[in-house]
Amino acid sequence: MEGALTGMIIGAALTVLAVVWIMLSRKPVKCAACGREQPAVRTPRNAQQAMWGGYTCAGCGAELDAKGQVKAK
Ligand SMILES: [Zn+2]
Repeated sequence: MEGALTGMIIGAALTVLAVVWIMLSRKPVKCAACGREQPAVRTPRNAQQAMWGGYTCAGCGAELDAKGQVKAK
């Protein structure tokens, strides 16, 4: 019984660590056109951005993909 509880605690701790690690390791996306960092919390402008990621640059308004590259129109 004690072993199961310890396992649960370790599992929960590892889950929290993994989530924190992912949040910390996520780099801000920079606009390839003007270099402005995009906000970590993005507001999708359309269904495509919501589905695939991507940004509308807060600085210059360029359409960016999830990595910050300017999309060809
Ligand atoms: Zn920009």
